[in-house]
Amino acid sequence: MRNKILITGGSGMVGHAVQHTEPCGIESKYLSSKDVDLRDFNACDEMFRSVQPTHVIHLAARVGGVKGNYTHMAEFFRDNILINTNVLECAKMHNANKLVSLLSCCIYPDGAPLPLQEKDLHNGEPHYTNYGYAYAKRMIEVQSRAYNQQYGTNFICLIPTNIFGKHDNFDIENGHVIPALIRKIHAAKLKNETAIIWGDGSALREFTYADDVALALWWALFNYDGEPINIGSNEEVSIKYLVECICESLDYYKIEWDISKLSGQARKPIDKSKFAQLTSLPSTSLKDGVSKTVAWYLDNFPNVRA
Ligand code: NDP
Repeated sequence: MRNKILITGGSGMVGHAVQHTEPCGIESKYLSSKDVDLRDFNACDEMFRSVQPTHVIHLAARVGGVKGNYTHMAEFFRDNILINTNVLECAKMHNANKLVSLLSCCIYPDGAPLPLQEKDLHNGEPHYTNYGYAYAKRMIEVQSRAYNQQYGTNFICLIPTNIFGKHDNFDIENGHVIPALIRKIHAAKLKNETAIIWGDGSALREFTYADDVALALWWALFNYDGEPINIGSNEEVSIKYLVECICESLDYYKIEWDISKLSGQARKPIDKSKFAQLTSLPSTSLKDGVSKTVAWYLDNFPNVRA
């Protein structure tokens, strides 16, 4: 039987990257929330009945930055639990051979030993600012494991670092750090003002370009059956370096650090040694990824998601 791949969350940042990196000869269906509200079991069931996928890349989620997660804690929990429960149940009911879900490094326990290792995923409370989203995401791993055990399904999970790229949400308050900084510095450039950046830029973080995550998803869909696995770039960079890359791409350098504001946890690296042993996929440098993302942002401004 010919493979048919269903991509939930196909209209989002990672969904676009999955489409952009799709291998030749694949039959695929990319979904947005406008095609089907996956919180609704009957609608989800109907969609699976009509598409009949052999494989699923499950990306659909209610996603947001720190403020959105904290302010809408219950909604992030409820929406994500409903989406995931319905998608995994329908994939089982309609006999999909394989399902790959994306978890996130931000769901690891607060204060877990560094670098973050897959074995510690459930060993403690997530950070208080995002526990609704984090517990809902952790339940994908539990549901996948339980379904594999009881029904013999092949549902697996990847755990990426922070992701960035084209089609991201560039909202200053609700976006993730890279798109929010791009928007902020670009807005300052348009008004010839100084962009004020929180903290002192010393915190270290890992960011992965969306196309690299997409390649890992395609690899996992056809080549990896096993326990949840950390994925992402090996580059750990300071926020200061990140801001320098954005300034260079935007050709605007009037920024000021507000050191009265918190800089965040000093570092949160994840251990990607298992992934590195299994495959050697290409890795886009932060500088190149930021440059491509800013170019896309400028081409599409003001019609960007925000
Ligand atoms: P986006 O916000 O860009 O995309 C979310 C996608 O989910 C969109 O296609 C959206 O559809 C869809 N969606 C949301 N709610 C529903 C719903 N009720 N029914 C059907 N579809 C829905 O997210 P990303 O691409 O950034 O994230 C993709 C995955 O990667 C998510 O699972 C996320 O948790 C995970 N991830 C993301 C990280 C990041 O830094 N961005 C980091 C780690 C993991 P529509 O376009 O119609 O709104």
